[in-house]
Amino acid sequence: MIILVLNSGSSSVKYRLFNMDGERCLAWGVVERIGSRGAILKHNREDGHQIKLAGDISDHTKAIEYVLTILLSPNHGVIKDRSQIDAVGHRVVHGGEEFTESVVIDKVVMHQIHDCIELAPLHNPHNIKGITACRALLKDVPQVAVFDTAFHQQMPDYSYMYGLPYILYKRYSVRRFGFHGTSHRYVSDRAASMLGKPIEELKLITCHLGNGCSTAAVSCGISIDTTMGFTPTEGLLMGTRTGDIDPAALLYIMSREEIGVGEANSLINKHSGLQGISGISNDMRELEEATAKGNERAELAVNMFVYRVKKYIGAYAAAMGGVDGIVFTGGIGENSSEVRKRSLSGLEFIGIELAPELNNSDDSEERFVDKGGRVRVMVIPTNEELVIARDTLELVTGM
Ligand code: AMP
Repeated sequence: MIILVLNSGSSSVKYRLFNMDGERCLAWGVVERIGSRGAILKHNREDGHQIKLAGDISDHTKAIEYVLTILLSPNHGVIKDRSQIDAVGHRVVHGGEEFTESVVIDKVVMHQIHDCIELAPLHNPHNIKGITACRALLKDVPQVAVFDTAFHQQMPDYSYMYGLPYILYKRYSVRRFGFHGTSHRYVSDRAASMLGKPIEELKLITCHLGNGCSTAAVSCGISIDTTMGFTPTEGLLMGTRTGDIDPAALLYIMSREEIGVGEANSLINKHSGLQGISGISNDMRELEEATAKGNERAELAVNMFVYRVKKYIGAYAAAMGGVDGIVFTGGIGENSSEVRKRSLSGLEFIGIELAPELNNSDDSEERFVDKGGRVRVMVIPTNEELVIARDTLELVTGM
């Protein structure tokens, strides 16, 4: 079965085409700068063939049409006819309380995803554009929605509730939802496999550290807590997002700086985090380099970053009553041996001991990086697209 996986953002559409016999990724790429002049399509084929094309792509329908044209192209493509695409899996950021797992998209589901726009105004509208475009272009091909929030929807109420008046939860669904769920699910499943134990017997802490960062406590395969909250702003320090902050501090800043909701939103999501603290970059590589050269604010940003990861590892070990494995994933989690080392330093008392030679290796495969003690530490490259393809396969096979 051939499955197209789409991740539709505000000005980009990322795609992967899988042949699920053997879970082979036949082609992948991205259309960038949709809606502005000089949109670009970068396309890669399984055999190493790559191309980069420019064009005027005004909207998501045109972008996906372009992707289909390339997938079918005699020179660059991998399939001969649109009818070879058996199903499409879409990443949808917010599924609210409605969706605890992936679903086949029908009219009712579309309405429900629309209803979640209020909860994710920056993401769900673009995800919907991708679905609508596919409906127009691929008519009767079944489509599946895979939600970033779904994996966290079994959290206990005492973990997802905020200490606000209960009526506000009932009125506006203000609660912790959590994000990066597809990634936390994938790496926790892989970790169980690496540990050779059923996931139902494991307590795992998964750290997705990329431009956005979140940690999850996965007990017996269920996410019982996670650092991102009502929005992806809460929790760990991120590239440009604050992570945890006293809400009253924001009110104070709004009053002193005389800024409104829009500017405050931009402040906490686009100008804070690693970028806001260091004043030089949101990119961990650049901050590690600047720290090595003695830049004190870059060093402070990195110190804050690793301290929060460590703090949540301790908190989640307590929440689960122990921990069997810690997983690092995402651009920083997979690549920065320094961040892993510093996030885990001092945690020997829980039974965590990194093996420096394993931790320092540049291996890009999933691997253990600890000394083999009580708590195993793993680096697992995430693969959210494969989870979306697998869910899509499972749901459409049962249709
Ligand atoms: P992602 O959002 O998962 O693509 O991750 C992006 C983040 O990963 C950026 O902060 C990058 O600086 C960081 N990153 C990628 N490679 C490395 C590396 N070799 N060392 C440190 N950070 C890295």
